[in-house]
Amino acid sequence: THFGYQQVAESDKAAKVAEVFHSVAAQYDLMNDLMSAGLHRLWKRFAVAQAGLRPGMKVLDVAGGTADLTRLFLKEVGATGTVLLTDINFSMLREGRDRMLNEGKAPPTVQCDGERLPFPDNYFDCVSVAFGLRNMTHKDQALAEMHRVLKPGGRLLVLEFSKVWKPLEPAYDLYSFKLLPLMGKLVAQDAASYQYLAESIRMHPGQEALKTMMEATGFAKVSYHNLTAGVVALHKGFKV
Ligand code: SAM
Repeated sequence: THFGYQQVAESDKAAKVAEVFHSVAAQYDLMNDLMSAGLHRLWKRFAVAQAGLRPGMKVLDVAGGTADLTRLFLKEVGATGTVLLTDINFSMLREGRDRMLNEGKAPPTVQCDGERLPFPDNYFDCVSVAFGLRNMTHKDQALAEMHRVLKPGGRLLVLEFSKVWKPLEPAYDLYSFKLLPLMGKLVAQDAASYQYLAESIRMHPGQEALKTMMEATGFAKVSYHNLTAGVVALHKGFKV
């Protein structure tokens, strides 16, 4: 296929994702700033502002990686609240944990698969997954797990690459299929991982498709905000 990646067997996807994130972990934060020209920081701030958090609440950061969202959530829930940093990949989790330890914070950290969350039903006030759902093999199962661990009234935030505004598509394609792998090669000596990034973005369901998936999982009042002309979208849904 055009993406090549579609030909990879389902069981190989998880292994491929593990390899990619193990390989990019050390350079991950630097590359995020470079590739998005710092915009990912604004996207993440927007997501946290939409979380509706209050002191004392319990938050689960799925595929939390280097802890960008976890750190912002912690400020909202305060000392009486809890934020769990989780990720399937130990290399990414280690970067996140070390970064927070250097800042004098030590959030509980759990290495786990977003498709099989080791937490009880009806437990969290808010669950987030930022730039992580795209990498999961069974997105419907991951969404169902996030729904299960949320309390009734709790909300899910999905921050993810989405479908860019049509007139910008040619420029965005040029950027992601040519410039991105080149930057990956020059800065992180790793063109392949950044090629994977561009491909996985194109494969991910667009705004409406993801909204429908969330509704099919049982989320209510599902809505989304486009950010940066749809390069990214924040989806929000509630458990009733
Ligand atoms: N949330 C962080 C952020 O926004 O900077 C990290 C995003 S990073 C692009 C994607 C993360 O998803 C990686 O850390 C990867 O290990 C994690 N991931 C991939 N598949 C996963 C799965 N099945 N369960 C949990 N995490 C997963």
